[in-house]
Amino acid sequence: MIISVASGKGGTGKTTISTSLALSIEEEPVQFIDCDVEEPNSFIFLKPNNLKKKSATVLVPEIDKNKCTFCGLCQEICEYNALVVLKDNVLVLPELCHSCGGCSLLCPEKAISEVDREVGTIEMGKRNNIEMVYGRLNIGEAMPVPLIKMVKKYIRKNNNVIIDAPPGTSCPVIEAVKDSDYCILVTEPTPFGLNDLKLAVGVMHELNKPFGVIINRHGMGDIGVEEYCREEKIEILMKVPFEKEIAVAYSKGIPLIELYPEYKRKFQNILNMIVNIVEKKANSKIMQER
Ligand code: SF4
Ligand code: SF4
Repeated sequence: MIISVASGKGGTGKTTISTSLALSIEEEPVQFIDCDVEEPNSFIFLKPNNLKKKSATVLVPEIDKNKCTFCGLCQEICEYNALVVLKDNVLVLPELCHSCGGCSLLCPEKAISEVDREVGTIEMGKRNNIEMVYGRLNIGEAMPVPLIKMVKKYIRKNNNVIIDAPPGTSCPVIEAVKDSDYCILVTEPTPFGLNDLKLAVGVMHELNKPFGVIINRHGMGDIGVEEYCREEKIEILMKVPFEKEIAVAYSKGIPLIELYPEYKRKFQNILNMIVNIVEKKANSKIMQER
């Protein structure tokens, strides 16, 4: 089963929830996949050992000027403006290239070959029953989606998988959560939190994903999020109080369930509930197909 932890907005405490959720699973293997590749920080809490690192690369075109006739076809077909054909040169803008391979396929002179370009790294490690994989996008890279796809290739679907999704509601989040069985949306009880929660809920409906909400820093703001969830019949899975001790522990890389061990049972209850929801959904799908 794959459970994603997402939030419409950065800084809501998504990693606090995802890491404690993973740590609450005992005696079974867990894969923790950190897809927040622009700012992976879950390793600070999960502390994996024996880290292995590999380069993450994408293919980009390289032009052989001895073969190129500067006909301009590659520039014409590139939807992402990653090629600029001049009178006697072809400029490649690798940061814009989406590695579709179209230009090398269509070049009439076979003047384009594809070469590797590093966009980041994939790091892997293990601690107890948790296997961790996370991507780290190189500074200045504009496109996290290819790296998120590479990180997700490590998922073994029969495992318990927790995905820490990037914040927001755009392509990187959709790429991270689209294969999940269930999604936990973490929000905070403020007007900003509510606004971004509504956007994230819209994404869940669009993707037809079952989801529930965890309110972090409960007590700091207003009741707008709770009212919205009640009106929309959205399950509030947990409320984590707004407490200095939790913030201090976070700043020291101490997971919530290590600070407050009683939260282990609460996260386990959430996991049991999610298993039931996912099984019910799978059963009703089977019934419909019969
Ligand atoms: S399509 Fe091929 S030959 Fe034409 S400009 Fe591009 S690289 Fe050169
Ligand atoms: S591989 Fe695709 S995206 Fe990249 S430069 Fe060629 S046509 Fe453009």
